[in-house]
Amino acid sequence: MSAEQAHATAPFEAIVVGGGMVGATLACLLGWAGLSVALLDAREAPLDGQAAGTGAPSLRVSALTPVSRQLLEGLGAWPAMAARRVSPYRFMQVWDGEGSGEVNFSAEQAGVPLLGHIVENDVTLAALEARLAELPSVTVRFDARVAELDTESAGERRTVVLEGGERLQAPLIVAADGARSPLRERAGIETRERDTGQVAVVTTVRTARDHGGVARQVFLSTGPLAFLPLCVEGDARHCSIVWSTTPEEAERLTALSAQALGQALGAAIEHRLGEVTVVDRALAVPLIQRHAEHYVRPGFALVGDAAHSIHPLAGQGVNLGLMDAAVLAEEVVEGRRRGLSPGDEHVLSRYARRRRGDNAAMLALMDGFRLLFGARHPALTLARNLGLSGVDRLGPLKRLLMQQATGHRGRLPAACRPFSRRDAG
Ligand SMILES: Cc1cc2nc3c(=O)[nH]c(=O)nc-3n(C[C@H](O)[C@H](O)[C@H](O)COP(=O)(O)OP(=O)(O)OC[C@H]3O[C@@H](n4cnc5c(N)ncnc54)[C@H](O)[C@@H]3O)c2cc1C
Repeated sequence: MSAEQAHATAPFEAIVVGGGMVGATLACLLGWAGLSVALLDAREAPLDGQAAGTGAPSLRVSALTPVSRQLLEGLGAWPAMAARRVSPYRFMQVWDGEGSGEVNFSAEQAGVPLLGHIVENDVTLAALEARLAELPSVTVRFDARVAELDTESAGERRTVVLEGGERLQAPLIVAADGARSPLRERAGIETRERDTGQVAVVTTVRTARDHGGVARQVFLSTGPLAFLPLCVEGDARHCSIVWSTTPEEAERLTALSAQALGQALGAAIEHRLGEVTVVDRALAVPLIQRHAEHYVRPGFALVGDAAHSIHPLAGQGVNLGLMDAAVLAEEVVEGRRRGLSPGDEHVLSRYARRRRGDNAAMLALMDGFRLLFGARHPALTLARNLGLSGVDRLGPLKRLLMQQATGHRGRLPAACRPFSRRDAG
């Protein structure tokens, strides 16, 4: 794929604005089904596919659920990701740093071979970009920042205007332009916004002990700290760190020397992995939880972080976004079979109905977790310790929680079910 790959301004069947993991997945799904799609991104150029997943791990990673992996397998992106770098985990350990509660999950208890994979975002995106380049009906354009949106256009045509004045038209325009979504704003869609009062400090560490394929998370009074297991050239002593904490504490942590930050991290996880050495810079990312009041307008839809951004404590953000992409593509393709335009209101309202409730439930769950674990009241400390230990003892409840965490919730789109491509074919 190159910036020169496409220049047509002829009407498309869909225009996807934002070529992050979610927008790229949606464009792949629609292109795979034969729709003519334009994918527009403000970035200057595609990722360097050769560099992704080599050398030191990049700072931004995501825990991908088995359901997301299934979707990426179906799109043919997973083999390239696996050949680069994906780090499987089979166990999860969650405990209360202020009390005694602890819960341990295993893939075996959840009835799945793996609980998920930690994957650098660049690795996922590079694989999707390579797949997009092979789809003849998809036009990918970089350095294409959308400046205006016109969903009031006459008839079926909706219009986006690029910086520089070029106009592109389609009956469906999808905003996949991230948490601050300029298109969502231009469409006049309000969000419910909650400043979590937290900032995530992200970095990469090497630990004295092997992580053993365990994703660890400790709830501290200031917020959760995750050690996400990475395998770097067969070495299972690397972890990606997401330490959600107060802004003041984040400022203090990012100003520490690598050695002092390593010591702070080691102490915070109670030295479960031995000495911790910080091997990258520490980056602070503000955490704001947002949910769009509406997912659709005539001829317009929101997906991914443009529709919802969620606290990373359960590692669900991009997984929810990938599910949005799969459901929207499924509804568009199904509508097309019935002779409906991609921007038809029935198509879009079916998408919104299927996704908004699921995303709202996950956002509420994350809020509940954050408040419960942020509380210092002794009664709440006792409740959460009893709760965690209770979950650990109760098999059926544990299995239910695991199903949520692995993405096996509700009615999955066909693209996320095993062998869906064979079923469809
Ligand atoms: C610290 C942290 C840890 C996380 N960990 C996890 C995890 O473990 N698991 C998980 O599932 N999720 C996780 N997430 C969430 C996850 O990173 C996001 O949900 C995901 O990256 C969102 O992808 P997206 O494609 O919707 O948006 P983005 O990745 O933000 O992509 C938006 C794209 O739109 C483009 N764009 C913006 N404006 C325009 C415009 N006007 N015109 C054209 N293009 C435009 C941008 O260039 C960009 O490429 C985490 C988030 C944070 C902050």
